[in-house]
Amino acid sequence: MYLRMAKRLLLETDKRLLCKASWTLGVKGLLSVHKHKRRLKRGEFFPPFLYLSVINSCNLRCQGCWVDVAAKQHRIELEAANKTINEAKQMGNAFFGILGGEPFMHKDLLEIFAAHRDAYFQVFTNGHFITDEVAARLRKLGNVTPLISVEGSEIISDQRRGRAGVLNDTMAGLEAALRNKLMVGVCTSVCKTNIDDLVSEKWIDRLIEMGVMYCWFHIYRPVGPESNPDLALTSEQQRRVRQFVVDIRATKPIIVIDAYHDDAGNALCPAATGFTHHVGPWGDLEPCPVIQLATESIHDQRPLKDTFNNSEFLRDFRELTAQHTRGCVIMERPDLLVELAERHGARDTTARGTVIEELNAVSPRRSQFQPGDEIPERSLVYRWAKKYAFNDFGTYSRHFDTSNWKDPDTAPPAEPKNALPVVTK
Ligand code: SF4
Repeated sequence: MYLRMAKRLLLETDKRLLCKASWTLGVKGLLSVHKHKRRLKRGEFFPPFLYLSVINSCNLRCQGCWVDVAAKQHRIELEAANKTINEAKQMGNAFFGILGGEPFMHKDLLEIFAAHRDAYFQVFTNGHFITDEVAARLRKLGNVTPLISVEGSEIISDQRRGRAGVLNDTMAGLEAALRNKLMVGVCTSVCKTNIDDLVSEKWIDRLIEMGVMYCWFHIYRPVGPESNPDLALTSEQQRRVRQFVVDIRATKPIIVIDAYHDDAGNALCPAATGFTHHVGPWGDLEPCPVIQLATESIHDQRPLKDTFNNSEFLRDFRELTAQHTRGCVIMERPDLLVELAERHGARDTTARGTVIEELNAVSPRRSQFQPGDEIPERSLVYRWAKKYAFNDFGTYSRHFDTSNWKDPDTAPPAEPKNALPVVTK
């Protein structure tokens, strides 16, 4: 299997892009994790992987999206993006996740990539703006991998993403990227309506046949202004996705990303461990893309290094979350985020201004934390890589106390916040 993967990488991608990815993402990415570990030992903090949502606008209206895609367009301008990336690079960072809205709607996106040939960018995109011309420019730049989201069959995609013909446009973008020999990934937010079609060997075989090099299955999180809890996976279905990922990694020549488990299958949250944090379209420094609360911004006057290191809000987020769960705090304990926002006077970073109401309305449910049901990696390569570069860096042994964990599957339903007091006679 490893040989088949190596053969695919060598024969199906542009060699220059492969070398670039191996150096920038592989070697420099590992180095950035190494520096992160050293910082932690000295009691300092800077996340080694930053996600930037460079624009709020999008051409689609996906179910459960938390971004204000219909609000007036706002973006991280070229100068601010360059400054942020430069400051992160000075800390040893080499890899950046670019999100939106739809990142390719940012007029200066390719200029941002061109200004940082020593860094590597993963762009979360619906693929609709990847024409042959765009793909050729990305190939020339050599430091970008598009991660194209596919949310199901034609009918399901149209349902999930708000209009007809979405899948066709996505597949056209995917094909343009593959024709130009880019390193291409496909990601899916797995939910009840697409689990059977996409968490399947048939789909993985099709991706391999098309030339896709990696895939990423993350679970649908019912958050935001129009969340759809009916789409969320049950604990059993989440287990099925995890087992599938572990099996595919050991048997199929395709790379599978997941950001929620260590080598032994223990759950983790990459924001609670400090592995990643997120910069929103207004420049706010948030724990992760779905937690739209902040006290600091990239536009603050002090250097980013000091802002991250001294942010009491983000430090408290990491500790409070890790004290209570190894899973996803917004799914399991949205009340902790309300408490945190109140304690720090955190601002709602959305245009709609309803984040606290939305958090109060979330019905807690289990996330990746399924105690007693950990599924360790079967693949030796993933096991080694995670042991060294993707684990909790001691976060949970320092903070997690099992007695704090409330199992959302057995907890009694929360009282509605606006319930009238019971009058006793
Ligand atoms: S809080 Fe939830 S969505 Fe955010 S990084 Fe952690 S696990 Fe992921």
